[in-house]
Amino acid sequence: NGLQVAIDGPASAGKSTVAKRVAKQFNYIYCDTGAMYRAITLKTIRAGISLDNAKEISAIVKNSKITFAPDDNGQKVFIDGDEITQDIRSEEVTNSVSAVAAIADVRQQLSAQQQAIAEDGGIVMDGRDIGTAVLPDAEVKIFLVASVEERARRRYKENIQKGINTPLEELQLEIEARDYKDSHRKVSPLTKAADAQEIDTTALTIDQVVSEIAKVIKN
Ligand code: C5P
Repeated sequence: NGLQVAIDGPASAGKSTVAKRVAKQFNYIYCDTGAMYRAITLKTIRAGISLDNAKEISAIVKNSKITFAPDDNGQKVFIDGDEITQDIRSEEVTNSVSAVAAIADVRQQLSAQQQAIAEDGGIVMDGRDIGTAVLPDAEVKIFLVASVEERARRRYKENIQKGINTPLEELQLEIEARDYKDSHRKVSPLTKAADAQEIDTTALTIDQVVSEIAKVIKN
């Protein structure tokens, strides 16, 4: 019934684009764990709760239901039945999510949900700690990297398509700040698993990255 495929790496390295394509090719489930941290962050902001209020935010995780539904573009995301697919991509959520993701109890609860989703295999899961903490026994572990300049350019292009015009330099600073926070938190920081295969996507097309990962899965 299929393998567990873990895809980790820093912000905007192309994880979700590639993960969706790999999942489609193998007819696997795709799970975007970043969307789960983003969903909790959105609900926290909407409730007017401070980002350093670990206790209240843990209670939000406990009392929320995050669900996914397949869609042409990948998947729709819901919290408590309300669709939040677009809302979780806002600048405010993006710049707040690392603080929420640093809370130990939040990670513990969301990791348990992710493990349940991946239990039966046949899954491509992307995030920051999938190969190291969520699925340490995953058969396939990929660590995607790209230069920060290239990652900022990719984000910039995506934004332009959505009608957002944040300057490139600002996007680069935002990406660097988020990577720094994600790599320096106490619980399961962003890091390459010892047995993960690193792929530098800076000079690769999406097709090239997908076929590289497909090769690893078939081996
Ligand atoms: O992948 P995405 O950019 O949507 O992730 C948003 C944020 O969620 C990351 O910057 C990180 O703070 C957090 N995250 C995490 N662990 C994961 C996935 C995401 O801490 N497995």
